Amino acid sequence: MNEVEIIIDRSVENRRFRIRGFLTAFFVALFAAVAFITVASISASVLRSSSNENVKKSDGSSDKYQDIRYTFVGGDISKEYMSEDDLAAEEAKIAEIEAKKKAEEEAEKEAKTKEVEAKKSGTYVPPKGEKVVYLTFDDGPGPYTAKLLDVLKKYNVKATFFVTCNRPKYRDMILRAYNEGHSIGLHSCSHEYYKVYADEAAFFNELQSISDIVRDITGVETKLVRFPGGSSNTVSKKYNKGIMTRLAKELGERGYVYFDWNVSSGDSGNTRNTNTVYNNVLKGLRGNYSIVLQHDIHEFSVNAVEKIIADGLKYGFTFKALEMNSPTAHHKISN
Ligand SMILES: [Zn+2]
Repeated sequence: MNEVEIIIDRSVENRRFRIRGFLTAFFVALFAAVAFITVASISASVLRSSSNENVKKSDGSSDKYQDIRYTFVGGDISKEYMSEDDLAAEEAKIAEIEAKKKAEEEAEKEAKTKEVEAKKSGTYVPPKGEKVVYLTFDDGPGPYTAKLLDVLKKYNVKATFFVTCNRPKYRDMILRAYNEGHSIGLHSCSHEYYKVYADEAAFFNELQSISDIVRDITGVETKLVRFPGGSSNTVSKKYNKGIMTRLAKELGERGYVYFDWNVSSGDSGNTRNTNTVYNNVLKGLRGNYSIVLQHDIHEFSVNAVEKIIADGLKYGFTFKALEMNSPTAHHKISN
């Protein structure tokens, strides 16, 4: 080997040495980076799922389990056991919840059995939930209104009276009813269909007449209305086609609220029997709200009220007087 060849050979060796050094440094750096990322991600996931692996209790006495909490501290995973007291408290809480659930299930089962038995024996089963009854009495006041007010007073129950101009002899009952907390509503003056439903002007004249009477007696102007025959009456067709549709709209525009009913006592034609009135009403009572139609000009109907109230209260119904924002039970208008 001559001198030139030796020099070339050394320079090649130097270059190889430099490349090896570079590669070593590169791989060391790469390894460090991978190791750092791995440790960081493990620690993050452990912290995220910081708990809830179940293991057998330390005394191994039963099938009870302890809750372990993992925490990542300075690169170590440490287990933190719940104390015996905490565990006991936790178990007591679970037992309480389970007992409550069981009691509820049993009560529901019992209620269902009772309901089935009651239905079999024909006993009345009241609807569930909040149940408000609005007793309403039309066409009065009359000779039985005082008796009715006595019953309402006895049970501290409030009702609604849709009054007319008829039977002026009993007008002091309007004042008594008002003073005893009942609602007074307007039911037309004459209650004669051919007059009331002749046209819109006639209707509002009728309304104004009875409204003035009520205002003179009580000092208050009432805006509660019930149409003679209800909003679904078809008798008005005979006197004026489409009048109910127009009146319903105009009443609202003039600031009145009209009420129909969703429980009929049948006391204006179907029956003259107190017990039948009672049965019709009680069986008609529903969940949410019931607006009951009765007439205090019929003694047999007034005579049913005490039992309706006594049993209604027993079955969890609440009795209220109608107000401007009460439910209306509007019927489908058919004229
Ligand atoms: Zn009427």
